[in-house]
Amino acid sequence: MKIDTEQIIYLDNAATTQLDDEVLAEMMPFYSVHYGNPSSIHTSGIKTRVAIEQARKSIASLLGVKPHTIIFTSGGTESNNLAVLAGIRDFGCASLITSKIEHPSVINASNYYTRHFGIGIKYVKLESDGSIDLEDFERLLEASSGNGKKCLVSLMHANNEIANITDISGIDSICKKYGAFFHSDCVQTIGHYPLNLDELGMDIATASAHKFHGPKGIGFLYVREGSSLKPLIWGGDQERKFRAGTENVSGIVGMAKAMRLFHERFERVQCQINDLKKYFIEQLKQNFPGLIINGGSSALYSVLSVSFPKEGLSENFLFQLDQNGICVSVGSACSGGNSHVMEELGRTQDYVTIRFSFSKYNTNDEINKVVETLIMMVNHKFQI
Ligand code: PLP
Repeated sequence: MKIDTEQIIYLDNAATTQLDDEVLAEMMPFYSVHYGNPSSIHTSGIKTRVAIEQARKSIASLLGVKPHTIIFTSGGTESNNLAVLAGIRDFGCASLITSKIEHPSVINASNYYTRHFGIGIKYVKLESDGSIDLEDFERLLEASSGNGKKCLVSLMHANNEIANITDISGIDSICKKYGAFFHSDCVQTIGHYPLNLDELGMDIATASAHKFHGPKGIGFLYVREGSSLKPLIWGGDQERKFRAGTENVSGIVGMAKAMRLFHERFERVQCQINDLKKYFIEQLKQNFPGLIINGGSSALYSVLSVSFPKEGLSENFLFQLDQNGICVSVGSACSGGNSHVMEELGRTQDYVTIRFSFSKYNTNDEINKVVETLIMMVNHKFQI
């Protein structure tokens, strides 16, 4: 069945979000009028250079940090790669502690760089809801520190699949106690919560614009003052030599606009999405006995991960939902839909998990349609 894209119910906002019209309007002149190369020293180039630096200032001030601590990159994946590489190569970390439920860009970069540089990698123990066992984390860190040995810790701020939010301050104070270098993948929280990165304490943090109604292919790495790293991508002097390549000017300008819009509207949007999510959970609980809501008590307001007892839904439930115009996902879009997170939490045997993720554009009517569709699916009313 061909779905009219206008009719799609899009509940996959943790994978990517719709570009805000106001963001697009802000970006357009940087395609059509102000297209000078920001490294050029003529008027057209200076115009775009100024736009980049204004965007940097604006993003930094909203995050409570200095502008030169923000390095623009192509997004979350590149930022995570650079963070892990820099921790090992540039900041002298002799081992790495991370978790098995990080985004693939942390897991795969960690596997590659620890092997390449011949350093050890350890994984923190997780509670059944996916949260980090802080006592185990401290034990691991203590064993990996001392005698001048520094450890790189890479733990995400919020999990993109099950939505649980990490106790960043708790992790950070343990990191400080043992002199560890702390990286946090904040792709699901920056642009979703008003954060002061300086106060949160991590040394290095990752963000991606397309997760908060900004454009794709742009993000940044926050690097605490005084930590100087070498690039992942070598070339010209852009981004103060930390990240070579002609800047994605329209993307940078769009990301700054998306961040400003988020800050202006955060309270209203969070309230709207919280109400929507609460309503959805009520509807699901009434209609699907035995389901499990993942992510523990502290979960992202924008994500609802639900494990349904397997007997209710057929193997191709994602396809069935898609055929009915409903876009959701199981795991990270980058993992092709398989979930290493649910496997790690031992929830793949008896359950099928669906990640519903919301934005300011979703409505209660859409939730009603999704619940109706799920009910029909469980009652095997669909002929595929
Ligand atoms: N980290 C997390 C937690 C994510 O959810 C994602 C995107 O799915 C990424 C990193 C990768 O970001 P990008 O798509 O900008 O490369």
